[in-house]
Amino acid sequence: MLTTFAVVFAAFGVVGFTLAFVYHRGFRQARKILKDVSYTVVGKEVPTIKILDVLKSMKRDLENKYEEAIRSRENMRTIIENISDGIVILDHWGKVLMDNSAARELFGIKEESEGKKLVELVDNYDLLDFTDKSLNSFKKGSKEITILYPKKCYVKCDSISVTLSEEEVLIILMKDVTKEQELDAMRREFISNVSHELKTPLTSIHGYAETLLDDDFNDVKIVKRFLSIIEAESARMSRLINDLLDLQKTEEGKTTFHFKEIEISEVVEYVSRIVKPLAESLNVEMNTSYDVDVTVNGDFDRLVQAVLNLTDNAIKYTSQKEKGPKRVFLSCRAMEKECVFIIKDTGPGIPSNSISRLFDRFYRVDKARSRKVGGTGLGLSIVKMIAEKHKGHIEVSSKEGVGSEFKIFLPILKKG
Ligand code: ADP
Repeated sequence: MLTTFAVVFAAFGVVGFTLAFVYHRGFRQARKILKDVSYTVVGKEVPTIKILDVLKSMKRDLENKYEEAIRSRENMRTIIENISDGIVILDHWGKVLMDNSAARELFGIKEESEGKKLVELVDNYDLLDFTDKSLNSFKKGSKEITILYPKKCYVKCDSISVTLSEEEVLIILMKDVTKEQELDAMRREFISNVSHELKTPLTSIHGYAETLLDDDFNDVKIVKRFLSIIEAESARMSRLINDLLDLQKTEEGKTTFHFKEIEISEVVEYVSRIVKPLAESLNVEMNTSYDVDVTVNGDFDRLVQAVLNLTDNAIKYTSQKEKGPKRVFLSCRAMEKECVFIIKDTGPGIPSNSISRLFDRFYRVDKARSRKVGGTGLGLSIVKMIAEKHKGHIEVSSKEGVGSEFKIFLPILKKG
């Protein structure tokens, strides 16, 4: 009995000792963990209850930081969205992190783009090639690309890499340079046109002068003919230069228009007097008519220049017609709020596919015919510019082989 009791007691002793040992070890471990946490979080050993407070405040801090990150992302999105140039931000794998509507518009992207690779959104080899190369090097780069869809435009792309929230990202900036490119092309075309226009009369002047120098001046008729060509060509050259200077000065706002109340009938009368001898000499019948007591706010000399230019064209081009009646009608009529100068002729007419370009500088339907009548190709652009300076506009309708009709509309100042 005593032995049994001793065994049971010993067994309890062992179990108790084991439990105490295990508990003590666990407690030690738990304490060690808490101590470690305490050092990591606070930097020194503090009571467990304090650690919980610190952890709670850390949680609050993290939540605030998260909200701030979201806010700053939204702010960044607002800034990017309000930039007029296109912007796309890509991660290391070429996935879109952010873009703006200017970029989406340039490439006609309609779907949600964030998280997608650029290649899934854009079908433009030049841009994809540029971004691929930029992603490989993560270096600054620049390239001008052409976009054909949704509309043709030229875009200058710049890539820069920056570190955003510890991640290196690639920013692609896209600037629409279509207008600059078109202006550049226009400038180049203009210079080539001017050089060509000046070269032609100069070549002919030079050629005839050279021939005359080698001549023994025996045939006075030939000498006179050559001299008259030289005179006509130099006159055309000086007209061209004057027209160019005129256009340039007006475009730069350097030409002053002297606006005052003008009777439209006086403009018609004045032009008619100037062109009559020309019409007679070219066998063109000239008729005029106008409404009286109608005034506009205009520059008399400039209005005369515009109407004269159109009437002069009408007479000269009509005179070139091989058969049929040769007539020019110059009139000015008053409507309710506008008056209209009408210059109508029965000349060769203008093909319909030339109408839209007619007021462009140096545009001619028939170069040889224009040169024959001493034209510079600048007359109609000057007339258009004068009409617009008077808050008016110009219209043209024409039928090949039948004739043309030019109209200048101007606002009426007083009537009746
Ligand atoms: P140009 O000095 O060559 O006459 P304009 O600018 O006055 O230049 O006219 C441009 C072109 O428009 C002319 O070259 C000519 O081909 C055409 N044009 C102008 N007026 C007439 C007209 N009344 N009839 C036929 N063609 C015309």
